[in-house]
Amino acid sequence: MELIMLGTGNAGVANIYNTCFVLKGEKENLLVDAGGGNGIFGRLNQAGIALSSIRDMYITHSHTDHILGAVWVVRRISAMQREGKYNGIFTVYCHDVAAESLETICRLTLSKKDLKALGTTILIERIADGDKRTVQGMELTFFDIFSTKAKQFGFTAILPDGQKLVCLGDEPYNEACHEYAKDADWLMSEAFCLYGDRDIFKPYEKNHSTALDAGRLAQSLGAKNLILYHTEEKTIATRKETYTAEARQEYEGTVYVPDDLEVIVLE
Ligand SMILES: [Zn+2]
Repeated sequence: MELIMLGTGNAGVANIYNTCFVLKGEKENLLVDAGGGNGIFGRLNQAGIALSSIRDMYITHSHTDHILGAVWVVRRISAMQREGKYNGIFTVYCHDVAAESLETICRLTLSKKDLKALGTTILIERIADGDKRTVQGMELTFFDIFSTKAKQFGFTAILPDGQKLVCLGDEPYNEACHEYAKDADWLMSEAFCLYGDRDIFKPYEKNHSTALDAGRLAQSLGAKNLILYHTEEKTIATRKETYTAEARQEYEGTVYVPDDLEVIVLE
């Protein structure tokens, strides 16, 4: 399988896209979050991913930079279904609060025609803490990350080849998630900025963590590979190098600091 990072930025970015990604299977794809707007379509185009190949979506939480792009995805897939360009059901998995947000924003902003799809050909499936679903050959387990801001679930995915991928969402790790997060082959963690730049970007005041924190965490959880995302964009020219070096101060595994549209082969 491949992990395609459509966006790697935090909520405030302008020149890169908000963090969202695709887990690409043999034929079909799982979209995780959609960024903050219809920029999702440009990113999917650039990545060569047809919307008709996205059969399932997962939304971590209701914040602007994760859920508003989903409204556009619902709108477009609804139109494609009417035009016969998207066959079958599109399923969105998320917790109750995100489901309520998505349904409300859709109701307030989409046309009657588009809304007809909700509950018929576009299903919003509410999942609870600890729930499991098999999606495109992956066994997904959703878990509460105990956010202090908005209710947020991460997930673990057991890939078809048995590897474990863990997505910790966009907030600092909570020890209550240890059972889910430990021993990952691929650990996806936010890193708002470098620890060295904490006085500039103020990650802790915003309840975010740094590349150094993520490295320490990955080491303590026994992760084989660490993928950093949801970052500031001011240091983008040097981000890959500097974030990797900082995380490596505390972590012995492999660090990935992908750019938007970068593909990570999960093998
Ligand atoms: Zn975010």
